[in-house]
Amino acid sequence: MNPFQFDVRNLPDDGKHLTGSQPASFFLLPETDSARAETPLSYDLTILRDDDDIIITGKLDATFSLECGRCLERFPFRIEMSDYQSEVPIEKETTIDLTDTIREDILLTLPNFPRCEDGNVDLRDCPAEGRFNATESSMAQEMPGANDGVWNALDKLK
Ligand SMILES: [Zn+2]
Repeated sequence: MNPFQFDVRNLPDDGKHLTGSQPASFFLLPETDSARAETPLSYDLTILRDDDDIIITGKLDATFSLECGRCLERFPFRIEMSDYQSEVPIEKETTIDLTDTIREDILLTLPNFPRCEDGNVDLRDCPAEGRFNATESSMAQEMPGANDGVWNALDKLK
């Protein structure tokens, strides 16, 4: 049962409210990747039609685990969107599925180059802080693969 899929013809004029949660597997992040979803996604959304668009507004909340690009330790990172808004064009007067839009919007807010000291769940200093000089060559070495999981997952949506 996919709560984000419905027939646009059945959408009430004043919209509909969707509230609940989806398992962490909703994000389709493979276990081997650096970004993992650690909690279910909880959502509290209003779905409205505006002419040829579906407007999604509301709240999204999920906690991920990311790998610090500097010390390589995992740390929790919470995505809490309290005034989420997105628009999906209606292409046909039939069933529409907002799953990919919602998944992609959340994954795109994850940091591209995660640093454990930027974690918003546990405050910590990166134990590897200062081990690298902030030169361009060390930056370049840190970049590859920093967030492959997210990009792989996004690629699969295309
Ligand atoms: Zn770190």
